[in-house]
Amino acid sequence: MEHYDVLVIGAGFAGAVTAGELARRAGKRVLVLEKRGHIGGNAYDCLDEHGVLIHQYGPHIFHTNDRRVFDYLSQYTKWRRYQHRVIADLPRDNTEAVPAHKHTDGRFCFPVPFNLGSLENAFGAKEGKRLGEKLLAAYPAQSQVTILELRQNEDPEIAAIAEYVYEHVFVHYTMKQWGQRPEEIDPATTARVPVRLSRDDRYFQDAYQGMPLEGYTPIFEKILDHPNITVALETDARDRLELRDGKILLDGAGFDGPVIFTGALDEFFGLRFGRLPYRTLDFRFETYDKQFFQTHATVNYTVDEEFTRITEFKHLTGQRLEDRVTTIVKEYSKPYTGASGEVPYYAIINGENNVLYAKYKAEADKYPALHLLGRLAEYKYYNMDAIVGRALALADQLTGA
Ligand code: FAD
Ligand code: UDP
Repeated sequence: MEHYDVLVIGAGFAGAVTAGELARRAGKRVLVLEKRGHIGGNAYDCLDEHGVLIHQYGPHIFHTNDRRVFDYLSQYTKWRRYQHRVIADLPRDNTEAVPAHKHTDGRFCFPVPFNLGSLENAFGAKEGKRLGEKLLAAYPAQSQVTILELRQNEDPEIAAIAEYVYEHVFVHYTMKQWGQRPEEIDPATTARVPVRLSRDDRYFQDAYQGMPLEGYTPIFEKILDHPNITVALETDARDRLELRDGKILLDGAGFDGPVIFTGALDEFFGLRFGRLPYRTLDFRFETYDKQFFQTHATVNYTVDEEFTRITEFKHLTGQRLEDRVTTIVKEYSKPYTGASGEVPYYAIINGENNVLYAKYKAEADKYPALHLLGRLAEYKYYNMDAIVGRALALADQLTGA
């Protein structure tokens, strides 16, 4: 068997970036084991049967404030200038004043994150403006406020705004996504989508935003295209690795180099302390014979429907097709059970689950060569840029940079 210096488990951003950097910076011979039939992890994209570029595991929009991450990825892709904008779509009730985007079917839309413009859509131009000024006066030093913080405000008018936003943006969507109310989940989760004390209606405010011009998968192809890197697809690491008494065995022989694991830690350790809870998603793709299905890349269904959101890929990718054809995806969230075909997408972060994770981590720590990296392995809600940043930092550590 060929000799490898480093073993990487998983070919998503965590695994691919680490493998690429160790091969390029330090000449390490790296074996990457990936259980799926493709590289890219959840950022994988491909053409569907209609020729539309889709994201197989849900919509991925790149955004970061980390210059190092942006520069690193820019070696592997050009960027399409793109700023993500999302609207909430909900049944109209008699509280709303002026629909931002007119609907004829008794529905109502406003931009999310809820901002000063959304306030005018909901309460009318004059009243919305007055309430907006009140909000600005209440939080003079802040550009945004989380829904949970806003709900603590005792001023009756601000409390009424908070209740409006809670009811029309957060509570039903969060119940669909997590099966729990906003106040029951990790506060950092709803804080990802704050109430904006400005008219900025972009979903993200990061300094660097965009979509990879040719898609995500070519980035992974380029990163992993190196003579020192071998990728074994459809290979579950659990079938080739053994962890015993602080030693790691690959195909039955002791492996001395670093092992970077980017999958779910509970499954790696045979669920010995029980399952770490995750949410999974069902993606339902639909293709239509029209140029566009909806006005925005993503529309959040914040009150009704069983899915949380619909994303239309052509808005993200800028793909122009000769045919009038477009593909959308609807996301349905449910608990992850480990059934075959299910993917653990979101760690359910809370005190109890963190304690369970810590037990697995303590097991992993018995293997000094084992490094846990990534959204699954670290049981965290990381965006792509955070993972790329962490992978670069691990490569620094392992190469002594
Ligand atoms: P993954 O991409 O999950 O890669 C892990 C890889 O390890 C997988 O390929 C898996 O098959 C493999 N693996 C696991 N176990 C084993 C094993 N035992 N043996 C072999 N291989 C194994 N981030 C953004 O920045 N912007 C977005 O818009 C965005 N949208 C998202 C939308 C959705 C629906 C989801 C779920 C996530 C989104 N993210 C987004 C987050 C992004 O997907 C992650 O940050 C990123 O994919 C994490 O990379 P990773 O390498 O840690 O994990
Ligand atoms: N959220 C919500 N309504 C929305 C958008 C987000 O309640 O219209 C809440 C919900 O709890 C969600 C969280 O904010 O899980 C984070 O949203 P984000 O869009 O960042 O989720 P992701 O894209 O990671 O699924």
